[in-house]
Amino acid sequence: MKTAKRIVAIILIIILVLGIVASTFGMLFATKADAATSAEIKNQITNLENTASSLAKRKVELEQELVAIAAEQGATVEKKVLMDQQIDVTRQEIANTTEVLQQYTLLIANQQSELDRVIEQEQQQLESFSDRIRAMEENGSTSYIAIVLGASSFSDLLTRIDMISEIAQYDNRIIERMAQMRSDITLMQDQLEISKSEQRQAQQLLEQQEETLVQQVDQAVLLLKELENQEEEFAAMLEYVEQQEADVANAIDRKIAEYDAAVTREEEERRRLEALAAAGKDYVDDSDFYWPSYCNIITSVYGMRTHPVTGVYKLHTGVDIGSSYGSKIYAAKSGSVITSGSNYAYGEYVVIYHGNGVSTLYAHMSERAVSEGDYVLKGDVIGYVGSSGYSTGAHLHFEIRVNGTYMNPISYYPNKSFVYV
Ligand SMILES: [Zn+2]
Repeated sequence: MKTAKRIVAIILIIILVLGIVASTFGMLFATKADAATSAEIKNQITNLENTASSLAKRKVELEQELVAIAAEQGATVEKKVLMDQQIDVTRQEIANTTEVLQQYTLLIANQQSELDRVIEQEQQQLESFSDRIRAMEENGSTSYIAIVLGASSFSDLLTRIDMISEIAQYDNRIIERMAQMRSDITLMQDQLEISKSEQRQAQQLLEQQEETLVQQVDQAVLLLKELENQEEEFAAMLEYVEQQEADVANAIDRKIAEYDAAVTREEEERRRLEALAAAGKDYVDDSDFYWPSYCNIITSVYGMRTHPVTGVYKLHTGVDIGSSYGSKIYAAKSGSVITSGSNYAYGEYVVIYHGNGVSTLYAHMSERAVSEGDYVLKGDVIGYVGSSGYSTGAHLHFEIRVNGTYMNPISYYPNKSFVYV
């Protein structure tokens, strides 16, 4: 019998130990699901630090690109300076060619008036010569022969021959002079044509130079635009680099804060578990929801209703439990207190996050018993019933939300009986 009793005792101890181990494991799992552990955050920080070092490499690359862009920009500036100088030279060329054209205009005018003058002289010469020939015909001495035949004596004949000779010489000189004039006129006309042709060439040159100037100015404008683009690109690159540095710094700060919070939370949890173990308490089974009050009277159900205070027809987002003033409010599940505060509608209220998108809310408290960041176990007292906020009397307003959607809390208590009033 003694041996049998001992065996039973050993079996009981084993069952108890296994039970404790199992629930401890469950707790550890539950803790893990609720919030990131310090180890997980440490991993994230390591990842972020890797990101930071690859960003640092990228930054070096970008800085090299920036140097390249700056060099490109320098080259563009040099190009622009050269282009401006070319434009200056072209403008001087145009001024020069314009001056040449003006000089040609003057020269052509001079040559033309000289030509006109000589042509007029020639005309006069021709007219006076024609007049004399005509006069000779009118006097009857139409030819040299007639003059010779009109001689009255031998001495008269000699005189007449002398006269004819003089007239002939005179006529020859006039004819020679007229021939010379004609040749001068031809020469002047040639020169005038050359001048006009040269002027046309100068005009063409001017047109080319003006075209060149237009092209050069266009190029200069393009270079200016290029410079502007390069400056914008440069500024954008700098901004990008600076923004990335700032982003990484912020992310690391945030993660470090989360890490510190997780360490604190885990330390608190460890102490709590140690305290529970020291007090010989068993661990709570966290699989089901725990009713947050001693009271099972429902004064207002979940669903559409006319609000008792505002008179507005809208969704009643939870249930109202008719608990008495100052009675304890219990956590429906283990989790992290993500809000402990007050507002106009809910009065003093607490929100607990249980992981996997599930949260519970407890409103109209007379007093809150937990703070944000606390980790609470299912059944822990988190506050006391009151009538703070939009409330017409002491009651507990209790909500369950899953992934942002209000659920009917009653559906989470299939085995509990309620009294509806
Ligand atoms: Zn309510």
